[in-house]
Amino acid sequence: MTVNLLEFQKNGFVRFCAEIGEKPFRARQLERWIHHNGAGDFEVMTDIPKSLRGRLGELAEIRAPRVVRDTTAADGTRKWLLDVGTGNAIESVFIPERNRGTLCISSQAGCALECTFCSTGRQGFNRNLSVAEIIGQLWLASNALHSSQAGPDAPASAAVRERRITNVVMMGMGEPLANFDNVVAAMQLMLDDDAYGLSRRRVTLSTSGLVPALDRLRDACPVALAVSLHAPDDRLRDELVPINRKYPLAQLLAACVRYIEKAPRDFVTFEYVMLDGVNDSVAQARQLVNLVQSVPCKLNLIPFNPFPNSGYRRSGADAIARFRDVLMQAGLTATVRKTRGDDIDAACGQLAGQVADKTRRRERRLAIATA
Ligand code: SAH
Ligand code: SF4
Repeated sequence: MTVNLLEFQKNGFVRFCAEIGEKPFRARQLERWIHHNGAGDFEVMTDIPKSLRGRLGELAEIRAPRVVRDTTAADGTRKWLLDVGTGNAIESVFIPERNRGTLCISSQAGCALECTFCSTGRQGFNRNLSVAEIIGQLWLASNALHSSQAGPDAPASAAVRERRITNVVMMGMGEPLANFDNVVAAMQLMLDDDAYGLSRRRVTLSTSGLVPALDRLRDACPVALAVSLHAPDDRLRDELVPINRKYPLAQLLAACVRYIEKAPRDFVTFEYVMLDGVNDSVAQARQLVNLVQSVPCKLNLIPFNPFPNSGYRRSGADAIARFRDVLMQAGLTATVRKTRGDDIDAACGQLAGQVADKTRRRERRLAIATA
């Protein structure tokens, strides 16, 4: 059996080289070839002797998920559908902006947390993604963006090598903190100078609020943090984000304060999806102001992105503006997230991929609907 080198962090490469009787400096060479230069096979590794390249080809492979579909939206947003085997496919999205390029990465095939307004949540859950499947998304996208830029008219090396992905957000399919070890290992590669060399401020993890794992993240790999709030009180949040029944708001907000002590930014971003007539009233905006008082934060209002049979509508532009104004008048920083790539279903909460649901959620739902 060959080992997939995309599974390895820095110390994995070191151990592998020791196991095959190679000098430790080969570990760094391998890591740099794969993650820094995007090598997909050993033959391009010109500073590694030919005999060792041949041996590596027998013992190891560099295998990312297979690209099933690659779509670009009118606004330049690009989405990859990736096959991860056994009937599952995941999605990654690249969002180009003037001064940065953000890659949105998935952490699980599906999600078990069943937030009612989320398309991934509706799909059910199959399994956690491996380190290779998580970092493989960044490896693939970096390579794809690099080669798409290097067309016949591409300028000479400097411009071609320009880094297109400046930020990574763990905001694709799945709850990253529910796949803690693999997500942390992948994020450590993102931060590693021999791999992607991103600063901790430029890697953001978004969570619906798994409190114990949030505390562990603070110690293991404190990156920028976004928390999916979506409701100003426990009663409504219990309904929209069911994990709230286990970790209610007071516990979650206390964990956010603890997190900030070690975070690379001195605030938490609270995400708040705007659902017409559900959580978008002026009274609820005022409640939200009181709720987040004790937490240094910014608020990011996300207009709801529809999907079939969601049962929700996006709040009107007026309601969103009014809601934001209440927050701003109270001295909070609040922004409205621009919807990107919705013509290719790449906007927040629209990622569905293909999930071989093991939770039998669809059947339960049908049973309830027909009861
Ligand atoms: N599981 C993590 C990260 C993935 S979801 C989390 O829940 O935070 C990334 C963001 O998109 C979350 O804030 C999520 O609540 C939001 N989201 C989910 N469905 C959405 C939808 N249909 N429209 C807009 N935002 C949505
Ligand atoms: Fe899972 Fe996040 Fe969707 Fe909730 S919003 S179901 S936690 S992916």
